[in-house]
Amino acid sequence: MPFSIDQNLCVVCGSCFSNCPNRAITKRESTYIVTEMCSDCGSCVRCCAVGAIGAGETKADFDNKKIGKAIKDKLRLRRDIVAMKFVDKVSAGIPIEEGPQFWCSICGDTFEGNGSPVFFTGRASACGGSIMVGVGAPESNKDEFKAAMDAFVVGEGRLFATNDLISKGRKLFPLFPKQYGGVIIGSLEHIEMPDLILFPVNVHQMTVISTAYAFETGNVIMGYSGAPMCIQTIPIPLVENKPVFTTGDWGGRTRSRIKDDEMLVSIPYRLVPGVVKNMDRTVYAEESHNGKE
Ligand code: SF4
Ligand code: SF4
Repeated sequence: MPFSIDQNLCVVCGSCFSNCPNRAITKRESTYIVTEMCSDCGSCVRCCAVGAIGAGETKADFDNKKIGKAIKDKLRLRRDIVAMKFVDKVSAGIPIEEGPQFWCSICGDTFEGNGSPVFFTGRASACGGSIMVGVGAPESNKDEFKAAMDAFVVGEGRLFATNDLISKGRKLFPLFPKQYGGVIIGSLEHIEMPDLILFPVNVHQMTVISTAYAFETGNVIMGYSGAPMCIQTIPIPLVENKPVFTTGDWGGRTRSRIKDDEMLVSIPYRLVPGVVKNMDRTVYAEESHNGKE
């Protein structure tokens, strides 16, 4: 494990358990232990008044290429994995998306194997969903905004009967602590230490992931449906550090080319090494090694 607890020193106060952002510490009988879901952040060390927590023998392995390959192998995933990294300024060599473009269309290109990273900003966004993605809104005037909502979003035969219902759905999800300058979106193999990863899964693949996530900690992955895809997949992983799965919505599914038998899973990257490791420890491990579809 990346960090471990010296049971001779631990006074079982539970402070580390309550403060681990990954919920990676668990209680077994009367002792607290650190699980594979630990990502080396070190927060628990600062929480422990008696100095019982120290570095373990191994480190969480965040190598993006290795992790991408492991996920694909273990899940028999045929799609590419989207990685998203929120930044204020783009790094040299990454093109800036000029737009107008939908972030979910960029995801669709990546799922299909065209995952060269781009820097996506609210200004380049073709829809207001970029606010949900944490990168601000495109510029538009009142008439343009209303025309776009009337054409695609609000009214009979569209997504919501009224404008108020959009706000109602938004309240279910956390607000971003800040709006970023943009987000680098591309395939996981191209982006080191992203904030989160996102990919289409079938129900079996989702079950394998959920079981691995719960295996040592009992934590569950919550699912969402009925709101825009951006709001369902980005705020909770980014702000609350929890994975989610979702059906997406009509526009998001269409633009990101999600198949009828697929949904999306979005996982904060710092949880991914633990989930991948634990895929080898659950009831699904044998079939993952034997190549069952
Ligand atoms: S994720 Fe951070 S707080 Fe949690 S056990 Fe690991 S080092 Fe400690
Ligand atoms: S904070 Fe320290 S003393 Fe308290 S349960 Fe965790 S390891 Fe034990």
